[in-house]
Amino acid sequence: MSLLIVGTTALDSIKTPYAENPRLLGGSASHAAVAASFFSPVRLVGGVGEDFPAKYLNLYRRHGIDLAGLQHLPGKTFHWSGEYEVNMNNRRTLATELGVIEQFQPALPAAWRATPFVLLANIAPALQGQVLDQLTRPRFVVADTMDLWLNIALKDLLKLIRRVDALVLNDHEARQLAQEDNIIAALPKIHKLGPRYVIVKKGEHGSILSAPHGLFLAPAYPLRKVVDPTGAGDSFVGGLMGYLASTRGSIERNLRRAILHGSVVASFCCEGFGLNRTDKVTRAAVNTRVRELEKLARY
Ligand code: AMP
Repeated sequence: MSLLIVGTTALDSIKTPYAENPRLLGGSASHAAVAASFFSPVRLVGGVGEDFPAKYLNLYRRHGIDLAGLQHLPGKTFHWSGEYEVNMNNRRTLATELGVIEQFQPALPAAWRATPFVLLANIAPALQGQVLDQLTRPRFVVADTMDLWLNIALKDLLKLIRRVDALVLNDHEARQLAQEDNIIAALPKIHKLGPRYVIVKKGEHGSILSAPHGLFLAPAYPLRKVVDPTGAGDSFVGGLMGYLASTRGSIERNLRRAILHGSVVASFCCEGFGLNRTDKVTRAAVNTRVRELEKLARY
């Protein structure tokens, strides 16, 4: 089944202690859409400016991503730049230039309103809400977010998460949202805000799913070398939702396997700058890593 993804379609300038790469294809929606495309047909909702390179549009197309909801707007594409320390868990945002995102109003093509699976990837929660408003009875809606929105748009975020089936956030964000230092104790507090499913990402230490039938602890795929972790979180949730949209039967039953697939696509993302590595991955390579991960966690 189809998966609709809204989020940022960006140009990213990324600096690590070992290399620097300007104006790569980035953005929450780009990472999520490519990650999801290994498993399901993807519909991308976003906005790009006049400086958005044609080669990046071709990359989306190569992955079969439907661009009927991608607006070409006058002005510059959203540009984000960040710098990593030697410990790549530590990142500093150097600049966020909103560009066309400031005027972006998501508008779904009529035929997309009935899309069953929806990923509200990281973007202002008011825009995520505008996409939800245009949908007719989606089967499963997941929202991703970031600390910025907890800090500057908490009211909009709280309004949004009352309306979604699942919320994905990292451990720091979970603590901040629940005002609770212990993640396990934070989970029921986040459920009270609306979502039936809460997924907490813990980077290289995996993730926790809290669902109506209890907890699931998922490992991250172990990597010897991380080149650039930008977009790993977006790839995780994109892979997860792409996989889920490809399955039949109960969401709760399929969600655990979906999380493993998300972890694996995120691991590929970390092995190259921007989308360079993920772009070259095959479904067979994903399946191999999922099997390895299953073996590593079998007990
Ligand atoms: P992650 O590494 O998973 O946190 O995601 C990084 C991606 O998020 C980059 O590709 C950025 O372009 C994008 N990004 C950075 N800041 C924002 C923001 N304020 N809103 C939405 N996307 C952003």
